[in-house]
Amino acid sequence: MCTGNRRGVFLPSTIAHDFGAHFLDSECCATWLMSKIHPDGPHCPGCGVGINDEKRLKALLSDKRIRCPQCGRFFSMLSRSFLSGTHLGCSEIVLLALLLGLDVPIKTVSGLTRQTDETVRTYERKFRMLQIAGRLLQELEGAS
Ligand SMILES: [Zn+2]
Repeated sequence: MCTGNRRGVFLPSTIAHDFGAHFLDSECCATWLMSKIHPDGPHCPGCGVGINDEKRLKALLSDKRIRCPQCGRFFSMLSRSFLSGTHLGCSEIVLLALLLGLDVPIKTVSGLTRQTDETVRTYERKFRMLQIAGRLLQELEGAS
């Protein structure tokens, strides 16, 4: 069935083609990422001071770098995390992780996230290594 460009209808293949990280709520994605990367709240990767003021928290959630109020170091939410150095925004990271978590094929993930296959494979490896590390830690804790 071809809908052509008929007005008022669409096919699932249309959203499959058009969907991307821009469909996701960026604030929701940033808040979720923050809760996973910094479960005890964000802190300076240099001196360890907790970041509690609203202005800096808002900047971190907006994917911006902030200056530590104690040591002056600049950092972002992802600094010194396993996602440090990423060029992806929070919504893109969440979408990529979701698709990998659903075992969606690499080609589809790269299409939906508008990243190269190699970039997707790099993140897939990172997540796989985290999974392996988590299992090893569980085994070590179980052995002691
Ligand atoms: Zn600091």
